[in-house]
Amino acid sequence: MTSRRNFIKTSALASAALLTNVSESKASANKKESSSAITKPIVLSTWNFGLKANDAAWEVLKTNGRALDAVEAGVKIPEGDPTERSVGYGGRPDRDGRVTLDACIMDEFANIGSVACLEFIKHPISVARAVMEKTPHVMLVADGALQFALSQGFVKENLLVEESEKEWKEWLKTSNYKPIANIENHDTIGMIALDAAGNLSGACTTSGMAFKMHGRVGDSPIIGAGLYVDNEIGAATATGHGEEVIRIAGCHLVVELMRQGKSPQDACVEAVNRVVKLISLRKKELKDIQVGFIALNKNGEYGAYCVQSGFNYAVHDATGNRLIDSDFHLKM
Ligand code: ASP
Repeated sequence: MTSRRNFIKTSALASAALLTNVSESKASANKKESSSAITKPIVLSTWNFGLKANDAAWEVLKTNGRALDAVEAGVKIPEGDPTERSVGYGGRPDRDGRVTLDACIMDEFANIGSVACLEFIKHPISVARAVMEKTPHVMLVADGALQFALSQGFVKENLLVEESEKEWKEWLKTSNYKPIANIENHDTIGMIALDAAGNLSGACTTSGMAFKMHGRVGDSPIIGAGLYVDNEIGAATATGHGEEVIRIAGCHLVVELMRQGKSPQDACVEAVNRVVKLISLRKKELKDIQVGFIALNKNGEYGAYCVQSGFNYAVHDATGNRLIDSDFHLKM
């Protein structure tokens, strides 16, 4: 996978990356936190594919568009790209060879919408938005989500691309159909934005852990875990092992920490520290786990932190669009 970093790094790679990661991310976080002016509009998203996604979001934001429209437009870029193999069309399947997608969206009024284990629909984020805007509910799953999507005019398509099918068949040979945590490729696009009017929204979408058990749902479609927005305070989104993010109600925690006065950077650090603590409580190996958070507050200050090296995120404001390596906990 060349377009994104693999979560699971060798220690050699991790050590080599150490110095650059620390210096770049710290410099960036400090620069933002020392500024008192509000930076808006601004959009942040996870991973390399965040760059292109940010460009699409920026088209909305630069013309005074709403953050909600920006985040939906932004994450639809990797969702619709068959070469992005961890989100939407082209995403890796579950262990039964089925591509099941998770997504959620949240706006400045605390409107929320979510779909989980949705098959055959290229843009789960737009189905999540339709759940938010057109139903009295906040979450639809599996067949119910598909039926709803079809009733809204979404088109049923095959999302399993040849490459993903090939990988799945290879995986089946050695895996013996056992879901093995932490060796599979995954990644999520989480995007959070502050618009010119000073309002926040967020979106999060993924095909989840490759070769997961059928029916497995991660953090990404769960409001409070993979995404949270409080228009008075800030927004956060997550990537990585969803089970660990859910365990600490990750993004809600990050936003609550910002409410208590922490900077976005410090809030992400504290949330990752909680993940780390619970990993050790459960006597699991930290080196097998990755979780990353990105956060943005009402002033347009932002930060990110993750368990181990390799996580990056894209930031677009009036000065341009750039990728930043996140600082991380596990320094060997
Ligand atoms: N958080 C996603 C999940 O657990 C995967 C990822 O972001 O890597 O489904």
